Amino acid sequence: MADRPYIFFELTNSLCSKCLRKVEAKVIIQDGRVYLLKHCPEHRHEKVLIATDADYYMFSRRALKPGTMPRHFNTRIERGCPYDCGLCPDHEQHSCLVLVEITDCCNLTCPVCYAESSPRRVSHRSLDQVAFLLDRVVANEGRPDVVQISGGEPTIHPEFFEVLDLAKARPIRHLMVNTNGLRIARDAEFTRRLAGYMPGFEVYLQFDSLDAAPQKALRGADLVDVHKRALDRLNEHNVSTTLVVTLRKGLNDDQVGAIVDFALGQPCVRGVTFQPVQAAGRVEGFDPARDRLTLSEVRSLLLEQSPHFRPEDVVPVPCHPDCLAMAYALKLGGRVIPLTQFLEPSRLLEVQSNTILLEQDPELRRLVVELFSTSHSPDSAAGTLRQLLCCLPELSVPPQLTYDKVFRVLIVQFLDAYNFDVRSVKKSCIHIVHPDGRIIPFDTYNLFYRDTASGRWPLPLSASAGLPALPVVEGAGA
Ligand code: SF4
Ligand code: SF4
Repeated sequence: MADRPYIFFELTNSLCSKCLRKVEAKVIIQDGRVYLLKHCPEHRHEKVLIATDADYYMFSRRALKPGTMPRHFNTRIERGCPYDCGLCPDHEQHSCLVLVEITDCCNLTCPVCYAESSPRRVSHRSLDQVAFLLDRVVANEGRPDVVQISGGEPTIHPEFFEVLDLAKARPIRHLMVNTNGLRIARDAEFTRRLAGYMPGFEVYLQFDSLDAAPQKALRGADLVDVHKRALDRLNEHNVSTTLVVTLRKGLNDDQVGAIVDFALGQPCVRGVTFQPVQAAGRVEGFDPARDRLTLSEVRSLLLEQSPHFRPEDVVPVPCHPDCLAMAYALKLGGRVIPLTQFLEPSRLLEVQSNTILLEQDPELRRLVVELFSTSHSPDSAAGTLRQLLCCLPELSVPPQLTYDKVFRVLIVQFLDAYNFDVRSVKKSCIHIVHPDGRIIPFDTYNLFYRDTASGRWPLPLSASAGLPALPVVEGAGA
């Protein structure tokens, strides 16, 4: 009798990539890679690569920690995941980061845009609507860790600064603006006003490549000069900035190391986030069989292309290890020292606690104090890794170690109809607040719940969808 050519690791539920029907899926390991094997009664078999590195995949599963619940759940369990978002009481993680989309309009029409924005979609949320969305996030989270003002292109909203004022008036720990950088590049006064929202404020700057050709493929425009001018202005005011790179295989995946190096040379840049394209919304010229990248593949590219990080430096984020990996370093006068050179990587992955007390590590404390003894930044020492995602470790640090001395690389993989895994999506901690107030995982929002996605439902809409104000379901969950 012959053996199967793979190891059957576990069973989960996924989606048929053609009809979005929920289907059973085997997770199998074959030749060092991990695949989903799905079967749709109508569209038959589908085999999807979900990790190029089975060892890392298995390792990341050991990094899990108990989920943290939001204060409230907002929908009921009726149809089963992913058709009850949200958050429904079956969700396993609160919102570490919530996007508040204040407009559908954009000054670009990118060939790749999960929001399907363009200059033709001129619909801005009113200030009352934005206040309602922010209040829903605050109701769920109490003190939300990170809120990202997004769109469309939020900086073209006619009342953009009033939106920032509304957000700043609420107990939000860290506020971000997700932007393509055009307004920042063109408008010096605009950037000066942005700087007034520091600290606790960050620009999340679209930055897909150092070259024109990949930018034209992803953004429909050569943005090299735009990025240069935008970063000049952000550097001038030292506005905390994260570069956000949408990665497509064969297009810009050879620039992972170069972009990290470029980012390290920009004083205002605190880190880089790499996001493989999510096959949702507008994805022109994207062939899933050819162009998809997995998280472990991006991790391997980072390790191959960047001299700064070793495998033990790039570790899974415990609240959602399937979809988030991180590497942290200290920027020390031109040197980049991964935190894992000071700490056992296992301490970055502590299961029971999110807090790493560097103060309790005498050798590390000595090194850090020594290294930063000339720094007199007025920033608070409370500026910790948690300013990016609350699920990242909290560092109790000497006052000299301020936010601008920490450099982070995040790999964020969103689930789409190909790699969708119900087990995993329940742990999603990056959410979008729906115009009706529901808080919905980024992954399922772009597949099912965005207005442009209507009609893609394999089932009729849930009875709780589309209501102007949702009933709040207390506690419950586990
Ligand atoms: S993704 Fe989360 S909120 Fe949505 S249906 Fe599943 S468990 Fe509920
Ligand atoms: S990806 Fe961003 S910049 Fe491009 S069209 Fe969409 S919202 Fe605009």
